[in-house]
Amino acid sequence: IPVELPENMHAAVVTHAGGPENFEWREVPVPTPSAGQVLVETAAAGLNFIETYQRSGLYDVQYPFIPGSEASGTVIAVGEDVADVAVGDRVATASASETYAEFFVAPADKLLPVPDTIDLVEAAAIPLQGMTAHYLCRSTFEVKDGHNVFVTAGAGGVGQLLIQMCKHLGANVYTVASSKEKRQIALDAGADDVFDYDNFGEKLREITNGVGVDVVYDGVGADTFDTSLSAVRTRGMMVLFGAASGPVPPFDLQRLNSSGSLFVTRPSLAFYTLTGDEVSWRAGEIFGWLAEGVLKLSVDERFDLKDAADAHRALESRATTGKTVLIP
Ligand code: NDP
Repeated sequence: IPVELPENMHAAVVTHAGGPENFEWREVPVPTPSAGQVLVETAAAGLNFIETYQRSGLYDVQYPFIPGSEASGTVIAVGEDVADVAVGDRVATASASETYAEFFVAPADKLLPVPDTIDLVEAAAIPLQGMTAHYLCRSTFEVKDGHNVFVTAGAGGVGQLLIQMCKHLGANVYTVASSKEKRQIALDAGADDVFDYDNFGEKLREITNGVGVDVVYDGVGADTFDTSLSAVRTRGMMVLFGAASGPVPPFDLQRLNSSGSLFVTRPSLAFYTLTGDEVSWRAGEIFGWLAEGVLKLSVDERFDLKDAADAHRALESRATTGKTVLIP
């Protein structure tokens, strides 16, 4: 580890559970990379919905808490036992912690090397939302040619990426969004049709001639779950991957029997990025699609990291589209 590393840095710290006003811009020590870890100077931290759950107290964390697991930047130090990563490397990751900071540590085997063709700030959009969209359509339910797919929040971060990936895999892709502008963004991402929240269940039945869709990817949760489930075809799959509108209440499994022998799953990225090999496979496909132009990133919102509270307010009030990044 080089000796001239800074001792202190700034971080956006959540002091206690509650609203965005609980963020404080504080001076804290720069973390030291342990064996197998690297220290990265942050170019951008990715904003993700999970950090609002951690800030509000919906998910259990210890306060004071520095949120963030996703970020991009330049490696400035490496811990012991790190091969294949060197000081100066441009990297991105979804497997770090405390990335709402000027520096962060991350496991060396879960880093994505960022090609020179991709802007380092934009690269912060890839690891978490990109990998999530990837595992949803490549692993949780493997989307194939001709499948009918429904994705919630089609103008959102995961939403736009998932639409593009499912289209590339040959599916018919339907989505929902809350405003005219957002519906246009979802169409521009490649959706075959986009509905509003009032009647998407009926529309999905209509458009599939009464059959229903092969898979639903629902990240909105409480407000959409029942309607989403009602639109799944016999033996189809309901993938609940988030809770933007709140968590889904306890669920009676008997409902799956009476509604067509359905499958329901509640997946999480950590269990789909278990090994370095799995991360490399997902990242390889994503970077390949970016290089071919099959996939485009939409880093639509940029906030100063010290204004993390405003970024949380924007995400929670549905004011954002695409990816939001926080820049130190
Ligand atoms: P988005 O950019 O999709 O933002 C959330 C969107 O959800 C909003 O823009 C809004 O779109 C929609 N929404 C619907 N109802 C509400 C509500 N009551 N409050 C706020 N938003 C609402 O966020 P992300 O792409 O970061 O995440 C999407 C979902 O994916 C989240 O639920 C997140 O937790 C989940 N996720 C899950 C992962 C996993 O592995 N399980 C990993 C990563 C993300 P509109 O206005 O069009 O309705």
